[in-house]
Amino acid sequence: MDHFDFRDGVLYAEDTPLTAIADAVGTPVYVYSRATLARHARVFREALSILPRVHIAFAIKANPNLSVLRVMQREGLGADVVSGGEMARALAAGMPASDIVFSGVGKQAWEMIKGLEEGIGQFNLESEEEGVELAALAAERGLTANCALRVNPDVDARTHEKISTGKAENKFGVPIDLAAGIYARLAALPGLNMRGVAVHIGSQLNQLEPFEIAFAKVGALITELRANGQTVTHADLGGGLGVPYKAGEVFPSPEEYAAMVARATEGWDVTLMFEPGRVICGNAGVLLTRVIRVKRPSNRPPFVIVDAAMNDLARPAMYGAWHDFDAVAPSGEKMLAHIVGPICETGDTFAMDREIDAVAAGDLAVFRTAGAYGATMASSYNSRGFVAEVMVDGDRFAVVADRILPEAISAAERVPEWLD
Ligand SMILES: *Cc1c(COP(=O)(O)O)cnc(C)c1O
Repeated sequence: MDHFDFRDGVLYAEDTPLTAIADAVGTPVYVYSRATLARHARVFREALSILPRVHIAFAIKANPNLSVLRVMQREGLGADVVSGGEMARALAAGMPASDIVFSGVGKQAWEMIKGLEEGIGQFNLESEEEGVELAALAAERGLTANCALRVNPDVDARTHEKISTGKAENKFGVPIDLAAGIYARLAALPGLNMRGVAVHIGSQLNQLEPFEIAFAKVGALITELRANGQTVTHADLGGGLGVPYKAGEVFPSPEEYAAMVARATEGWDVTLMFEPGRVICGNAGVLLTRVIRVKRPSNRPPFVIVDAAMNDLARPAMYGAWHDFDAVAPSGEKMLAHIVGPICETGDTFAMDREIDAVAAGDLAVFRTAGAYGATMASSYNSRGFVAEVMVDGDRFAVVADRILPEAISAAERVPEWLD
């Protein structure tokens, strides 16, 4: 459930008409609903409360906007970070260092040092090599890093191949059949406190079975590790729960997910850790855009050219992803159209042959479910600026990320004197 609804024929975010935001801030602009973000965080937390010991770390790569993180922090969530930059954001949002989990397949020395010095809660190690390097960095400083070993369970998440992370051929984690040996060698190193295992098999999962298969393998590994005399107090089950992008799609609910986890982890006697991203913020945002013009080739559906493009919302171009498209003030008429952005790439296409609200030049519209992997993937391709972000709270709203103009981006560029 989200808080983007029509009132008197106009689309609102909570109690704020999107027309007012477009007037004040211009388009394209991401609009987030504070109440929706908070609600999704709470629903997820409450669903997991059937489990004994739980730590929830919002996967901030899904939406790292500082105000979004602030909402998460106020709901008691920690952060799953995948870079030094994300770690800095989590800390800036007021999340306690001890609630931060550092994932990521290519942690650099400076990032690990920063994590050690800040005293973050857990490093999820992606390889034996990374563990050896972290151990040395920690021991040099007289510190001990809490660590989980990320395993690759070789499970098909049945999602888009580009967001599948738990197959043997993916770059993430260590092969699960080698994990016990690696765990033992890392546990013997000074500087590391090996305390658990981590798994994350992919994103936008629409069924629970792949999770359950992966968790069963993790459970068997925990048993093996303990039989070998290792200590296991934590199991990080990652994120990945999907959200509906098309009206009418049905996904497993947080309650169904929690019930599955309870079944799969029975008797583990660990603190269970979770890293939800999309499920918390996906439906809490829309990308508000204005129709530039409608181009009507003869004998073909028209192209609705909007002012948002693949540089603002990359998911359709990157993964062929679907985003529902709604006029902000629909007339009730429909049209069959292609929806495209202004960028000079055929991939800059949001939808082909889609039945949509009839729109004309100047009309406002939204791409729904744009709160996750939206603004954070923006680029300045075609010398377009970086899209602005707004958060709504009831009948008030604030710009929570300024639009970065093309001039500001080119101001960071230099022409050396030898080109003069
Ligand atoms: C991306 C990612 C997540 C979040 O995935 P969602 O599908 O957004 O829930 C969690 N953990 C790790 C390690 C990730 O890379």
